[in-house]
Amino acid sequence: MVKAEAISKSFGSNEVLKSISLEVQRGEVLCLVGPSGSGKSTFLRCINHLETINAGRLSVDGKLVGYRQVGDKLYEMHPKEAAVQRRDIGMVFQRFNLFPHMTALENVAMAPTLLKKGSKAALQSRAMELLARVGLADRHDYYPAHLSGGQQQRVAIARALAMDPKLMLFDEPTSALDPELVGEVLDVMQGLAESGMTMIVVTHEMGFAKQVADKLVFMDGGVVVEAGDPVEVLTNPQRERTKAFLSKVL
Ligand code: ATP
Ligand code: MG
Repeated sequence: MVKAEAISKSFGSNEVLKSISLEVQRGEVLCLVGPSGSGKSTFLRCINHLETINAGRLSVDGKLVGYRQVGDKLYEMHPKEAAVQRRDIGMVFQRFNLFPHMTALENVAMAPTLLKKGSKAALQSRAMELLARVGLADRHDYYPAHLSGGQQQRVAIARALAMDPKLMLFDEPTSALDPELVGEVLDVMQGLAESGMTMIVVTHEMGFAKQVADKLVFMDGGVVVEAGDPVEVLTNPQRERTKAFLSKVL
């Protein structure tokens, strides 16, 4: 579903991603961990083309991200075309970014309504289904300010799912939450993983990684230092840098 082949990304002279290669198969969950500044968010942002890579090849669902290939030539996509491609990718951030003047239901139904993905009634009932899926059917008419952080994050997940994404990207979805609210969000993510969603999750929740992820990637300084089975990497890291990092977060 996601294939990164030696991708690099620089901001000016700062090379943030240095020839990153990794693959995520359909239905797999990949957890990405690493210290602050190691390039995790930048990597996610490249996948949905919020950033453009400087070198390498990156494809999602068999299609190059942000480029069209004609023969052996690559053409950069028109921003509109790139926006269409991005619709297949749901993203959930550390901050929930819900629209404050809209109810939970309106937040979830907004994007498909704008894109006229169905009748108003059909989209409303689909949004209700998604809220039920994240355990918030009874809060559909609440405004974000009246929801807890965990509830807001679950609405944000439902909102991302409303576009029927093929891939979900999570960038530290629980790190802004009070500790007692982390579990409810991880439970929703676990359910999503079990339903077969392809997911890349940047997280420091090693319990989640161990239990849910198919693959764990440890990044540092813009390179993949170590990757493999989460239980293997977490219990028996091979590299000193991985050991040092894990000793701080476990
Ligand atoms: P954190 O755990 O703190 O979220 P991260 O692993 O997600 O860190 P990134 O946000 O990807 O790290 O940042 C990696 C590097 O890229 C940092 O040195 C950062 O300053 C730099 N960087 C990120 N975005 C930009 C940008 N838009 N312009 C310039 N530099 C940037
Ligand atoms: Mg980040």
